[in-house]
Amino acid sequence: MDIYRHPTFDMACEQFDLVADFLELPTNDRDRVKYPKRALTVAVPVRMDSGEVRVFAGYRVQHHLSMGPTKGGMRFHQDVALGEVAALAMWMSWKCALAGLPYGGAKGGVACDPRTLSRNEVERVTRRFTQEIIPFIGPQIDIPAPDVGTNEQTMAWMMDTYSNHFGHAVPGVVTGKPVDLGGSLGRRESTGRGVAFLVGRALQTLGIKAEGSTAVVQGYGNVGAVAAHQMVRDGMKVIAVSDAEGGLHNAGGIDLIKLDAHVAKHRTVKGFTEAGPIGNDDLLLLKCDVLVPAALERVITESNAAKLQCRVLAEGANGPTTPAADAILSQCEDLFIIPDILCNAGGVIVSYFEWVQDLQSFFWSEAEVMDKLYRILDTAFVETLTLARQKHTPMRLAAMSLGIRRVAEAKRKRGLFP
Ligand code: NAD
Repeated sequence: MDIYRHPTFDMACEQFDLVADFLELPTNDRDRVKYPKRALTVAVPVRMDSGEVRVFAGYRVQHHLSMGPTKGGMRFHQDVALGEVAALAMWMSWKCALAGLPYGGAKGGVACDPRTLSRNEVERVTRRFTQEIIPFIGPQIDIPAPDVGTNEQTMAWMMDTYSNHFGHAVPGVVTGKPVDLGGSLGRRESTGRGVAFLVGRALQTLGIKAEGSTAVVQGYGNVGAVAAHQMVRDGMKVIAVSDAEGGLHNAGGIDLIKLDAHVAKHRTVKGFTEAGPIGNDDLLLLKCDVLVPAALERVITESNAAKLQCRVLAEGANGPTTPAADAILSQCEDLFIIPDILCNAGGVIVSYFEWVQDLQSFFWSEAEVMDKLYRILDTAFVETLTLARQKHTPMRLAAMSLGIRRVAEAKRKRGLFP
């Protein structure tokens, strides 16, 4: 599977191999469970506002098809590559299985920097990309959702392009849509609120009061900003945040309402005057109760892992911690890790609710959505913690082994065709 060669894919495979050994998965089952089932690469030609035509690379990877359609985000970022998308699709499979959702994992993306594109250009990229992958997606095939660099508007354009092709509205083709188009109440906030809920469960487990605890958030985007607000509502103090442009630190706590007004105007946290500047690398090393990496992969590595000063590492992002860093962190008795496939599962859980509501054309209240979300997250948290304690394993190994075992079992029970 050399086509997927990429540091993030290598990382996902290394994690899988560790879990496969732990589960003593039969050799015959390993590659079948590990490698993505299928991948599509497309060229996305787009006329820019200047009249120039640029061609962007677009990808969609579906990891396994054994338990239902596939599900996963769509990323617009300049570094998007096939191997990265494949790793993210693998993690989605373990995440869905851990939460008990009837999906395989998927992921997609376009290698473009949306910050440098106009709104019209982003719309044309989205629509042309969607058009190119129409045979590969659908409510019973593969259901995209937002990820880094995409949002509700992107999903609305995807749904519109797909629906125009078929001649009728197909809301179930994407999740994370605006509520007016069949989106679910609570979906936009679900990942961040889920992160904050699990932070609360971790603090409770450690006997630390949320009230007055400090948090640091890398990546003040959809996941990071919502998690930050919810942690403040839960009585915590957010002392540092960042985005791709830079970070902010104020030991007394950052006023997030004022920060949001600044971000709305400047599209970055940088330049907010009520906190001092801090680099993204230094921010990770701040002393705090809770560190939430909520940006990109591989930011906690063997070079900074030993220097972390948090009690809880809540992985809002997918794949923020490398296996080499994990080996170092597993020696830190004081550190409680909420691994990514558990920590940020709130997004796909409410995406599942959105899909179910769309298929039934029957919509739920926000209270119903949140109540069901927290129940599923709580069950997954307790199952993971129980297994970690029983087997004396790190939380990541416990969470991944629950997910991978379920996928392996499903494949074993379906049998190998022909
Ligand atoms: P987003 O685009 O809304 O926000 C990403 C944030 O990270 C932005 O503020 C961006 O400026 C910042 N960022 C980018 N590069 C950075 C860098 N090098 N250093 C610091 N900050 C940087 O994306 P999002 O949807 O919030 O996704 C964030 C992470 O959460 C990703 O790993 C994504 O895969 C994961 N995730 C998202 C969802 C979801 O529902 N959106 C669900 C599960 C997991």
